[in-house]
Amino acid sequence: MKFIDEETARAIIGNAEAFTAVEAVFAGMARGYARNFPVVREAIGHADALYGFKSGFDKSTMTLGVKAGGYWPHNTELGLTNHQSTVCLFDPDSGQPTAIVSGNHLTAMRTAAACAVSIQHLARADAKTLGIVGAGHQAAFQLRAAAAQREFERVVAWNRSANKLDGLADVALELGLAFESVTRDQLCEQADVIVTITSCHEALLDISQIRPGTHLACMGTDTAGKQEIDHRILAGARVFSDEPIQSAQIGECQHAVNAGTLNVEDIVPLGRVIIREHSGRTADTDITVFDGTGVGLQDLAVARRVVELSA
Ligand code: NAD
Repeated sequence: MKFIDEETARAIIGNAEAFTAVEAVFAGMARGYARNFPVVREAIGHADALYGFKSGFDKSTMTLGVKAGGYWPHNTELGLTNHQSTVCLFDPDSGQPTAIVSGNHLTAMRTAAACAVSIQHLARADAKTLGIVGAGHQAAFQLRAAAAQREFERVVAWNRSANKLDGLADVALELGLAFESVTRDQLCEQADVIVTITSCHEALLDISQIRPGTHLACMGTDTAGKQEIDHRILAGARVFSDEPIQSAQIGECQHAVNAGTLNVEDIVPLGRVIIREHSGRTADTDITVFDGTGVGLQDLAVARRVVELSA
């Protein structure tokens, strides 16, 4: 059995590999070859921790496994990351474990990859300005993966505390992109693609701010009650997600579904666009929204790729 620690996983997986793995598993889900199993998430009654499992099986790549882990809010005091996870892969023929892969860096990479896949398949071809809302741990990962999907020239970003944007500015510089800290109004006026990656519980972007042609990748909302954009944006947009039912329950779509302005049947799995079963964006004036809530199969797909690359 292989054991791949955090440092090794970090060294092995790049954005291109994560992109290919996530795009393929979204396609597998759309074709009905790959299935996520019900998520378990529980408060363990110790250290204020939330712990759970995300699992699934992709028959097209014979990837069976589980990501176990969760959120330990006091880890920062111990010098550790609050989010902790480990992926265990199994032989689908026998059930025997084949690999244990540290999942912290992989989670960040697969989340950034999902956003990048949405940009590749849904953003306007001539997108030049990338907008980032948020500057936490995940934001730089999103920026790196998103930047590779179009010939972007500049990055405009907003964060609740503007002084936290320095890290994103450094990444933009490294990627050869101009960077500007802007207001939310300016961001929506200028950005062709907007990535939201916050843990906010109220709409940060209003429907009046969103221009025709914008692609929004909403990546922060992964729990009931969280919200990043005005739910009315979804009613007038083409809406895509990794997993529509999950999006309607814990994603950005929950608010529009609860308000009765969006039906779960109208949320299109991004995989259907990837396999060309759905046209995706149909005009340069369409507003497209990708609601990425994160599914276990993404974790298994990148973990499998790490195992392959480590061979
Ligand atoms: P983080 O704690 O490092 O950063 C949080 C960010 O949210 C910061 O930029 C902060 O300023 C912003 N924020 C929080 N409350 C806000 C408010 N009220 N108004 C404006 N901004 C606010 O978190 P992170 O690791 O960067 O993750 C960001 C979000 O993405 C989290 O909600 C996390 O759960 C989610 N996430 C989603 C996936 C997925 O697959 N969709 C995967 C990983 C993380």
